[in-house]
Amino acid sequence: MHVVIVGGGWAGLAAAVELCHHGVRVTVLEAAPQLGGRARGLDYTVNGQRIDNGQHLLLGAYRETLRLLNVVGIAEATVFERRPLQLVYKAFGCADIRITCPSLPAPLHLLTALLNAEGLTLPERLNALSICRGLLRSGFNAGDDVSVAAWLSRNKQSPALIRALWEPLCLAVLNTPLHNASAQIFLRVLQDAFARSRSDSDLLLSRVDLGGTFPEPARRFIEQHGGTVKLSHRVKGITVQDNAVRKVSVNDHEITASHVILAIPPNACQRLLEPHTALRGIAQQLGEISHEPICTVYIQYPPQTRLEMPMIGLLDTTAQWVFDRALYGQPGLMAVVISGPGPHMAMRKDELSAHAIAELARIFPHWATPEHSLVVREKSATFACRPGINTLRPSATTPVRGCWLAGDHTDTGYPATLEGAVRSGVECARRIIAGG
Ligand SMILES: Cc1cc2nc3c(=O)[nH]c(=O)nc-3n(C[C@H](O)[C@H](O)[C@H](O)COP(=O)(O)OP(=O)(O)OC[C@H]3O[C@@H](n4cnc5c(N)ncnc54)[C@H](O)[C@@H]3O)c2cc1C
Repeated sequence: MHVVIVGGGWAGLAAAVELCHHGVRVTVLEAAPQLGGRARGLDYTVNGQRIDNGQHLLLGAYRETLRLLNVVGIAEATVFERRPLQLVYKAFGCADIRITCPSLPAPLHLLTALLNAEGLTLPERLNALSICRGLLRSGFNAGDDVSVAAWLSRNKQSPALIRALWEPLCLAVLNTPLHNASAQIFLRVLQDAFARSRSDSDLLLSRVDLGGTFPEPARRFIEQHGGTVKLSHRVKGITVQDNAVRKVSVNDHEITASHVILAIPPNACQRLLEPHTALRGIAQQLGEISHEPICTVYIQYPPQTRLEMPMIGLLDTTAQWVFDRALYGQPGLMAVVISGPGPHMAMRKDELSAHAIAELARIFPHWATPEHSLVVREKSATFACRPGINTLRPSATTPVRGCWLAGDHTDTGYPATLEGAVRSGVECARRIIAGG
């Protein structure tokens, strides 16, 4: 058996690690000169500091990701700082909002956190509690897959609570604005984070660049187990004969495979599937998946500049979250995250930097003038997580024998996240190992 994995993002690497772990020979072909895909370290720096293509945050509920980290021999604490969930939101001229999960069993920790939230009025806190109690009773079932905005209005959430709690949470979790976001997928994440164990809602912030968290340890593991990882190898086509996959074409040669896992984004996958009649239906489906951007503005302040905690949410501003990169050994470097679409996408990079710096100056008036800034825009950061999207997401299997699909866009039930990507890769690997 020889499994060729197309794409060295977290989905492809997860599949490769799981297969190698079970003694299967793999070759990973990655088009880019480095691994990691949409979660990777960049070669350029801000003020000499290496940065990522975007700030990433993991949850304690990311069980498959954490399990694979263990498989490749990485102790969680060496690459991630784990903290109990604490959310702090700041808005110019308003009191801070603080939601802190106490050390109580789930879901009591969530209910207590909402009941004691600072900066929300008692009616707002009771309003939030009532929807959470409803969720627990219904098993986190939204009924039909409406938008998050419609679901909130159905559950009589006040505009103030939507602004302070639900809107930022929805953007952070689904990277899609409330009125376009799928309630079903939103509730799935809330359920995984809050309904099972207290530690599932923990936040995991990386201490090293993204390449060092999983992609590079995964490459070492794959190579130590007899697998091959080839960078700058873009797959141009797959060969299908007698309804089974036989080869992939890459650069100027072909590689024979018993199985091929396409762990690449929807548009790239569509191009490889389209020429094959049996796969054209899936290709068309993939063509209907649209994307949302994420922008990260890195701003270097003097090294003594610190946030009171590693990340702080901002309300009523273009900037949505600020991450303090001191945790990465980059004191004074702030990563400002802007999820989803908006007028900021049409701004020039220098305009957007200046805009973000001006917003931070209003909220943190004691901060000195920054020394450098850099904007990283990922135009297709995630699939648009809109209502009904689950009906477009393909499963791991295809009508062609040996041809498998992985990637955060496949039918994991998760939004576009590292955990969704990893689960999709592991799913393909398990099916292949089981003789699929
Ligand atoms: C800025 C940003 C912030 C994010 N924040 C978070 C977060 O906080 N938490 C979270 O969980 N998720 C976050 N995400 C989402 C997360 O990064 C993605 O869901 C995940 O990385 C997707 O992994 P993947 O393997 O499915 O796809 P990809 O990462 O897109 O991997 C696909 C790989 O295939 C390669 N490829 C494409 N075509 C070919 C070809 N023909 N031949 C060979 N190789 C090919 C690509 O180069 C790429 O490396 C964020 C994403 C971005 C962009």
